[in-house]
Amino acid sequence: MNALVELRDVFKRYPGTPPLEVLRGVSLDVEEGELVAVVGPSGSGKSTLLHLMGTLDRPSEGTVRVAGHDVASMSDRALSALRAQAIGFVFQQFFLLDGMTALDNVATGLLYHGVRPVERHQRAVEALERVGLGHRLTHRPNELSGGERQRVAIARAVIARPALVLADEPTGNLDTHASAEVFAVLRELNARGTTVVVITHERELAASLPRRVEMVDGRIREEMRV
Ligand code: ADP
Ligand code: MG
Repeated sequence: MNALVELRDVFKRYPGTPPLEVLRGVSLDVEEGELVAVVGPSGSGKSTLLHLMGTLDRPSEGTVRVAGHDVASMSDRALSALRAQAIGFVFQQFFLLDGMTALDNVATGLLYHGVRPVERHQRAVEALERVGLGHRLTHRPNELSGGERQRVAIARAVIARPALVLADEPTGNLDTHASAEVFAVLRELNARGTTVVVITHERELAASLPRRVEMVDGRIREEMRV
């Protein structure tokens, strides 16, 4: 197996008096094809870890490699290109555009990929069908339930067929039923070959995933694999 994401002795510090050490020596490999839950208390560094994996941020110390690329050696421009090609993000707050249909929201995920409008449209339809929203193509976000909005956001995250999907508390604003649906979509994606890392507070859903990483106070405290 190949590590899609590799963190070695990673520290993240923010200046201040005293300086804040948010990640304190994290080493972690995520292999291609894995489905990993990241759990742990609020403030333990989970989002910071996900941002580093997603190359949205750089470590203060240590190495981050994504798809074999050492993030430290890359320009911001090269990092954006890597992100656009290889990584899809899903956030708790969905970040959909209110004035646009589900279809157009999803199609924006291909805006900078040199894909013609007709194909963008076609692939957006397919992506929405895959998350069970083939019947909601022309609905706007305010006409969708929370769970449906998050599934639109997932469709947008995967329309460019990234190898890696990073989700930061995607069910944080959802009820139990919608949360289970979102996890079902993440599992389905993973079953088709996408590597998925998901931060979650849902104990039962986390427990149902093949691997769990627990963060406490900027360190990995425990790892469990089924
Ligand atoms: P979690 O996602 O586990 O709740 P975070 O990674 O968001 O934790 O944050 C960990 C700690 O780092 C928190 O104490 C937070 O306030 C701090 N932190 C996060 N981002 C910044 C920043 N840009 N500047 C200063 N402190 C930050
Ligand atoms: Mg967080």
